[in-house]
Amino acid sequence: MKADKLPALFIGHGSPMNAALDNPFTRAMGALGKALPRPRAILCVSAHWLTEGELRLSGSAPFETIYDFYGFPDELYRITYAPPPAGEAARATAALLTPAPGIEGRGLDHGAWTVLRMLYPGADVPVYQLSVDYPAPGKDHYELGRRLSVLREQGVLIVGSGNIVHNLGRMSPEQDAPPAQWNLDFDLKVKEYIDNGRRADLAAYEKLPGGKLAVPTPDHYWPFLVALGAGLEDKASYPYEGYHHATLSMRAVLLG
Ligand code: ZN
Repeated sequence: MKADKLPALFIGHGSPMNAALDNPFTRAMGALGKALPRPRAILCVSAHWLTEGELRLSGSAPFETIYDFYGFPDELYRITYAPPPAGEAARATAALLTPAPGIEGRGLDHGAWTVLRMLYPGADVPVYQLSVDYPAPGKDHYELGRRLSVLREQGVLIVGSGNIVHNLGRMSPEQDAPPAQWNLDFDLKVKEYIDNGRRADLAAYEKLPGGKLAVPTPDHYWPFLVALGAGLEDKASYPYEGYHHATLSMRAVLLG
């Protein structure tokens, strides 16, 4: 039986600390996981797996939990998340890419495990990751998403994990600090473009108001473009909208 077509999803993950917190963002993600159709597998494209000039896939071996952050409380380093590796879906994904990457046994980085654990705390949905080819231009990430969108018909939930606005240099230590004006301006302009048929224009983020402050480096923005491309022309909804540390947009985008 053919699985239901899954949506494409982007999640603004913010601080790793969210994994140990109970706040409106984490509660919204928990509710979202319960509301989504159950995926056969999850493909996560995370800001914390950057490669240069190539794409790589994981899912060939059981997952270690990678603690790729520094200076956080001990409790964060004790959380583990070990869903089954989705080797079969990873192989189907490799076949869509040129050149087809091998599938490796890399663990789950925190861009993946912190959000997937909120969505599926039982760790019972198989997972794999695709890296972000960091130096590639925005258009390539969007086009990659379009190419991956066929996986949605095979029961794969495509999850981009990054942040639409991500400026660590200017962030406030307070999670609930009010958002900087340029954060609001950029984030709301992105929403306007999504809702008004200007999605392809979002590849050139530097042309949007506040672009240079909102996206000082594009590592957290590229996973958004992949998810956006994978959502094609599907109607968007926003399972969470908010701002952390003044300079992060926590907007989540659900397409389909
Ligand atoms: Zn991050």
